[in-house]
Amino acid sequence: MQSQKQFKRRFSFEFFPPKTDQGKEKLQAVRDQLAAVNPDFFSVTFGAGGSTRDRTIETVLSLHKQGISTAPHLSCVGGTRQEIAELLDLYKENGINRIVALRGDLPSGMGASGELRYANELVEFIREHSGDHFNLEVAAYPEFHPQARSAEEDLKNFARKVQAGANSAITQYFFNADSYFYFIDRLEQMNITIPVVPGIMPIVNFSSLVRFSEMCGAEVPRWIRKQLEAYGDDSESILKFGEEVVTNMCEKLLKAGAPGLHFYTLNQAEPSISIWKNLGISEREKIAF
Ligand code: FAD
Repeated sequence: MQSQKQFKRRFSFEFFPPKTDQGKEKLQAVRDQLAAVNPDFFSVTFGAGGSTRDRTIETVLSLHKQGISTAPHLSCVGGTRQEIAELLDLYKENGINRIVALRGDLPSGMGASGELRYANELVEFIREHSGDHFNLEVAAYPEFHPQARSAEEDLKNFARKVQAGANSAITQYFFNADSYFYFIDRLEQMNITIPVVPGIMPIVNFSSLVRFSEMCGAEVPRWIRKQLEAYGDDSESILKFGEEVVTNMCEKLLKAGAPGLHFYTLNQAEPSISIWKNLGISEREKIAF
């Protein structure tokens, strides 16, 4: 973990672009609550195969204009170089200077795979097209990507993204801090020293957490699953237990030297804010985690 301690800590919140006017209003209220704790940046996801392209642009530009730096996610699968170049130019013109660069997943039934096959090719293309303008974040998988041929191959593929010019990484969420510590140790052995910020998923709903985790290859440990299951419909107890478990893990990560946290908010303020407040992140200049 030594390599991570040299980096300035940054704290961020991720949103998805809302579909409806009601969703937009809700996100605005969530944005206001989260902006009040002064995060380093917001980020906005990009639907599989570009399915949310216009909504992502609209959400990013609207949030960015309101004063908190906002990073679009950009996935290359299903897209052309020309389309990606247009997006990069648009973001640059609008003062955006950070991008979360991903391969992404194709929506089911979509055949074409696009001109860039992997995230390392996207990072390379962004560097070719926009030079050093953007701070590039890439995805990291402490529990390994579900389609990786092996753990070793996945680490090598992560290294390709760094070699192509990624500045830092955000992890897939996990509930086992040791997987993150081990991942960082492996990167150190490979002489990879970019900030790798843990992605944090607040626990709010048992069934959707289990479903989503199966899809993205994140493990929900048995003791957490069993306890959540036992709460049944008691959403208050689920929230309370989830907040405690995730706060404890974040505390452990920060104490060990993690260079910040990135919250998957799912467009809800309270679950992330409670953890943020438990950790005292707003006082980050004054406290040593
Ligand atoms: P890559 O790094 O390209 O890796 C994908 C797979 O291919 C891995 O198994 C890897 O080992 C392998 N691989 C990589 N490079 C090579 C290569 N050169 N040769 C052979 N094999 C290779 N998805 C969205 O659709 N929209 C989002 O906004 C979004 N945001 C995300 C944000 C974060 C922080 C994270 C962690 C994930 C996000 N995802 C998002 C999910 C992500 O798109 C998926 O996990 C996707 O399957 C992989 O994307 P990647 O950028 O990690 O791909």
